[in-house]
Amino acid sequence: MRLLVISPHPDDETLGAAGLMRRVIARGGQVHVVWMTSGDGFPEGVETADGITHPRPQDYRDYGKLREREARAAAGALGLDSRSLTFLGFPDEGLCELASAYLSAKTRAFESPYTDRFSPPLTEQVIRGVRYRGVDVRRELERVIAGFAPTVLVDVHPEDEHPDHCSTHVFIQEALQALAAQGRTPPRTLRYLIHYERWPLTPDAGQGSDLRPPAGFPASEGRWVSLALTPDEIGAKKVALLLYRSQMLVIGRFMQAFARSNELYLEGEPASPPECWCQNGVNVATEVPPEKYRRRPRKR
Ligand SMILES: [Zn+2]
Repeated sequence: MRLLVISPHPDDETLGAAGLMRRVIARGGQVHVVWMTSGDGFPEGVETADGITHPRPQDYRDYGKLREREARAAAGALGLDSRSLTFLGFPDEGLCELASAYLSAKTRAFESPYTDRFSPPLTEQVIRGVRYRGVDVRRELERVIAGFAPTVLVDVHPEDEHPDHCSTHVFIQEALQALAAQGRTPPRTLRYLIHYERWPLTPDAGQGSDLRPPAGFPASEGRWVSLALTPDEIGAKKVALLLYRSQMLVIGRFMQAFARSNELYLEGEPASPPECWCQNGVNVATEVPPEKYRRRPRKR
């Protein structure tokens, strides 16, 4: 098996798929993780980690580097080596804008209001010269997916309410469609959910209990697949989660709510058009006017 896990921020891959990655490695398969952003646009996180009230662009860049180090450590705890990790360096809290207002190659590049960057750091550009534009995100993903040639791809589910997450799904779909048009065999795709209302902070969210699908989740959005984890996989996942120290400081209870006895994925094409809202009120997934949809609050 060749498993490719695509993660919007450092931590999502562990929250959603640590056990699966551990299992594939243990059985001799190949695992690769791609991070869309390095989580460098999180003011509350920077303020908590560094004790500063008005972070400057360099503080945000340093915070992104810290989160990359944590991601490497967490991946190492699961058994991945450093060659199996790719950071694309796109803007945290900016992917949704790239999927809408900054989509075209003709447009100017988006500037991160946190790091002041217009492009991924040079060391993280898979294709030299990419900038913060939607077309470049898709080209980078195409290159990475084609290069690794996964048999199984772990994508974010489009019902995920975080704008960086649902727009990651949009970009992955576009990249997969472009590759299919070139005659490449599509991988089996599993989708994980991280942000959905108050899930998974349910009253029975004790460690070791079963993770269940969120109550009221639309039945048409795919078939739930539960992967029961072994004690070794549960242990490795807990260790990896704790290595995200900067995130445990701010969203520790939420992170721990994923330390369960199983992991959940959705398989099969979602029936409804995904909802993916940016701050400016555009559904990037459908380009349908916002009044047609219930608008959802932004949340992390
Ligand atoms: Zn995330």
